[in-house]
Amino acid sequence: MKWKNRRRSSHVEDRRGQRLSSGRRGPNMAGVILPLLMRASGRTKLMLIGAALVAMFVFNISPQSMLGVVGGGSGQPTTTQVSSAPNDEMAAFLSTMKADNEDVWTAIFQQNGKHFQPSQLVIYNDKTVMPGGVADARMGPFYMPANQTVYIDPNFFNEMKERFGAPGDFAQAYVMAHEIGHHVQHQLGLTDRVHQQRGKVSQEEYNRLSVRLELQADYLAGVFAHHAEQQFEFLETGDIDEAINCAQAIGDDTLQRQAGQKVMPDSFTHGTAQQRARWFMKGFQAGNLAEGDTFSLPYHEL
Ligand SMILES: [Zn+2]
Repeated sequence: MKWKNRRRSSHVEDRRGQRLSSGRRGPNMAGVILPLLMRASGRTKLMLIGAALVAMFVFNISPQSMLGVVGGGSGQPTTTQVSSAPNDEMAAFLSTMKADNEDVWTAIFQQNGKHFQPSQLVIYNDKTVMPGGVADARMGPFYMPANQTVYIDPNFFNEMKERFGAPGDFAQAYVMAHEIGHHVQHQLGLTDRVHQQRGKVSQEEYNRLSVRLELQADYLAGVFAHHAEQQFEFLETGDIDEAINCAQAIGDDTLQRQAGQKVMPDSFTHGTAQQRARWFMKGFQAGNLAEGDTFSLPYHEL
């Protein structure tokens, strides 16, 4: 895949090298605020108490909705290696992919009479703060609708290669495009419609809605690839195969089998290997939003 010498996005924050010092639930506000309170008086004291309350509120909101590229259903522990040094090539690659996605979706939204607001991208290692808690690399890359941000620990790409057998730069581009697909869904109001059903429908029914949302993100990743190829001619031989191989490697059935579990369709949240690859390809061939309606089809026809 060709990606050098193109625009890089400015909506990228590289937090690699930063470490979370304490706790798993965000910054320790008491440790910061209390010593200041002891010394403060009058109005300053009130302002500090106000700041503490706001901070507690902000960091206690539970992360109700995160949209990852892999399901968390299996729950098996994974070892996460913290990379030794930031890889500038990786930042350049991800920033370029981010810019490509922004260019493609800005144009598509414009053609549909809409305005595309770019998401943010946070590149981190191991753990980092996010609204409502801590992003953990073990969750895999994900999109957080609350702050319209994609979180990626690039070590996931090593894991994709070594553990899931899904190497290649275009496999990485597919993962990125899938997450930005979630941002597109959020901008179109689709994410909220699904998340509003949580608790109102059975867990099985909610899982099915999740599969519909995730397969649509795969479709949108394909739509991105279609238009990016027209705009940048960035595909090389084998690139599409890398994306298909990756989509299959992170299918729910593949992941359950790999974890030594029984394949349980009711627990699927992202779709099977075959479905994920098919919806990516469908988007790549169609290149439009119209054919990506994964919500109207009967579930067994997805
Ligand atoms: Zn996803």
